[in-house]
Amino acid sequence: MAEPPLPPGSTIGILGGGQLGRMLSMAAARLGMRAHIYAPEPDPPAGHVAHRVTTAGWDDHAALDAFAATVDVVTLEFENIPVETLHRLASSRPVRPGPGSLEVSQDRLAEKRFLNAAGIATARFHPVDGEEDIARAIVACGAPGILKTRRLGYDGKGQIRIEAAGEAGAAWSALGRRPAIYEAFVDFGLELSVVAARGRDGAVACFDPAENRHEAGILRRSTVPGAVSAAQRVEAALIAGRILNALDHVGVMGVEFFAAGNGLLVNEIAPRVHNSGHWTIEACTIDQFEQHIRAICGWPLGDGARHADAVMENLIGAEAGDWPRIAADPAAALHLYGKDPPRPGRKMGHVTRIRPRG
Ligand code: AMP
Repeated sequence: MAEPPLPPGSTIGILGGGQLGRMLSMAAARLGMRAHIYAPEPDPPAGHVAHRVTTAGWDDHAALDAFAATVDVVTLEFENIPVETLHRLASSRPVRPGPGSLEVSQDRLAEKRFLNAAGIATARFHPVDGEEDIARAIVACGAPGILKTRRLGYDGKGQIRIEAAGEAGAAWSALGRRPAIYEAFVDFGLELSVVAARGRDGAVACFDPAENRHEAGILRRSTVPGAVSAAQRVEAALIAGRILNALDHVGVMGVEFFAAGNGLLVNEIAPRVHNSGHWTIEACTIDQFEQHIRAICGWPLGDGARHADAVMENLIGAEAGDWPRIAADPAAALHLYGKDPPRPGRKMGHVTRIRPRG
């Protein structure tokens, strides 16, 4: 018999305490659920709006077991959680998405191999385990290219552009001589992403793709529909559906693409709610955060339809100090994450503006 949906009053355990956990907690509260945040850092932004917070490390077995005893389902807002942590929690509680989605997305090499094995195109790539592999990678993939650490890279961190083989030594040292992947530089016309969800029953729903602009490796702006064509919208949704199904993923996932030549290349996948999906809060009846809570609780998914066009801009570092001006704009939906202090490069909030669908 199918497992019944988790009813209102249930407790969602969320691994990670950043802004994504904060917005997940608010969506859970709207459905009558409680959130219990588990995060290693003290005073996590998600904790300000959650029912309960546990501050403990990912390897603290006693804390993990006590956390599991208080929740009905475990989910995550951050992909760099040790897989062993998820396995331990999964021995007593449903963990959605499961460890398999993290295993693939934590390692850029495993991710690209998984995608290619599923018939999904990526930039050409080559593993780099030592300086001498970089020359081989350039022969295999061409130059210029980007050397990226396999693990723990985010927001453009842990990557360095290489123009020619002579730069190999310096690049290898700059990345800390860690296992890496070399990717051919993609001369893309457009970057886009799709946020998609898969329910416990295997149902898949996609939000419309966003056109994304990055600055210094950090998402600056997402525009929907932006310059995304109808053909790209359909292709992105089909690819996202294939990825979700191949991973047996339950919950929301963000898939980032480069539009190059005639088709889409997948840059990376994030097994969680995604910064480029924040616009759904204002432009969709059911936003990405509620969609994720619905998926992991076995509720019916929203269909992803949007009632408006949208532009979402991140407030990075000191930009959040501009809140009085933004708040004075009646068309701006302001979101601040309660982070202190506003370090350079830190995502402090975002602002979304919608207008009737074009
Ligand atoms: P990532 O951390 O892989 O998402 O990279 C951050 C940003 O760097 C991407 O959104 C792109 O703007 C750029 N980038 C990453 N990989 C490539 C590539 N192979 N070719 C061109 N640009 C890239």
